[in-house]
Amino acid sequence: MSNSAIVGVNWGDEGKGRMVDLLTDHYDIVVRYQGGGNAGHTVINRYGKFALHLLPSGIFRADVLNILGNGVALDAENLMREIDTVREGGVSVTPDNLKVSCRASLLLPWHRQLDELEEKRLADKKYGSTKQGIAPFYADKYAKKTVMAGELLCPDKLKAHLADLLEWKNLTLTGVYGAEPCTMEQLMTWVETWGERLKPYLCDTGKLLDEANRAGKRILFEAQLGTLRDLDLGIYPYTTSSNTIAAYAPIGAGCPSVKLDHVVGVVKAYSTCVGEGPFTCEWFGEEAEKLREAGGEYGAKTGRPRRVGPVDVVATRYGARMQAADAIALTKLDVLSYMDEIPVCEKYRVGGDETDEFPLPMFLDQAEPVIRTMPGWKTDISGIRRFEDLPEEARSYVLYLEEQIGVPIRYVSVGPERDSIILR
Ligand code: GDP
Repeated sequence: MSNSAIVGVNWGDEGKGRMVDLLTDHYDIVVRYQGGGNAGHTVINRYGKFALHLLPSGIFRADVLNILGNGVALDAENLMREIDTVREGGVSVTPDNLKVSCRASLLLPWHRQLDELEEKRLADKKYGSTKQGIAPFYADKYAKKTVMAGELLCPDKLKAHLADLLEWKNLTLTGVYGAEPCTMEQLMTWVETWGERLKPYLCDTGKLLDEANRAGKRILFEAQLGTLRDLDLGIYPYTTSSNTIAAYAPIGAGCPSVKLDHVVGVVKAYSTCVGEGPFTCEWFGEEAEKLREAGGEYGAKTGRPRRVGPVDVVATRYGARMQAADAIALTKLDVLSYMDEIPVCEKYRVGGDETDEFPLPMFLDQAEPVIRTMPGWKTDISGIRRFEDLPEEARSYVLYLEEQIGVPIRYVSVGPERDSIILR
């Protein structure tokens, strides 16, 4: 029996979706345990290219059961639209291969609206929200002011609960932001349009997972975003509003009895970051543009150009430790093939001193990268499938990162396709 989590070690977009898609073969169940429709996994397989936001990446494997756990921000509207898109690609999504936790809280229409209103109010101090309503949703969840998906199964209770929340939320919408109030009709239309479609997928997924675990089924936990966006351990306040780390997986999945046997931390061969916040190794200008183009670094959800830079050993070592990763998947090594020399951010300089330690968020804006360069390989490596067939410079780069991170690099990805992978 082997339960695993596949998680991002850095700022997100490391290629987790691609790794989950590759590894789902070895698992019976894939679970999303946190986050919502605010980030995207890009998956390329025989059905085509898909940007998944809420659906677990196991959805493309016929014999895999996919679960959205209680920890996710359950955006019924986005989920149903995503199901429609994936179905159009010929993929079957039914209540047999997708289950949604009755305990997941619902992202309501005003969460997206409030996200937009708040980003507008913040103007140039904005956090770079994707405006999918995630922060207002989690704020309301922890204030106990949203509804659980299971309430859709008790319409009378749901209506009364929504009426209470409406009265309360309109105080904020109208009083704080001067926006139009939401009406009960609008809410009920939303419930009838999107909530109804969600109902067939709802069940007690915690119980299901507990039973599956006892029966020896193998469970894969899939995270959204990366360590540095974890609410508690990331670059607060430029984090997401949930816990992205693997240790949260059994909670967000509703099955604390399930132990993680392995944590695969996904690291990109260079750094990217979407949105605001400190990003010590950031490149600008032509150098950045070249890397962004080479790696196709534009947000899966927003299309925003991602901020880019060399691999950041300091942040990566911290990220891998917080994830308790016991294996690393290094992705996009092929993207670096155009470089004469490969730069690496080996240490930070903070207040005149060099350090190997990732600083606390309040000191990050003082950190400067200490860069070393390694020889490039200047040859196409995307067709290579064995580590020993990689050019020596590419092997040296991988081995150097492995030593610096302190965790074995078990997978080296050299292309977006399912089989463009080197196993070690
Ligand atoms: P995720 O959210 O962590 O799954 O990451 P994204 O999907 O946002 O970004 C990863 C992107 O890189 C996707 O477009 C993948 O298809 C692509 N990708 C993943 N691994 C590789 C790789 O090894 N080489 C190349 N060239 N592209 C890759």
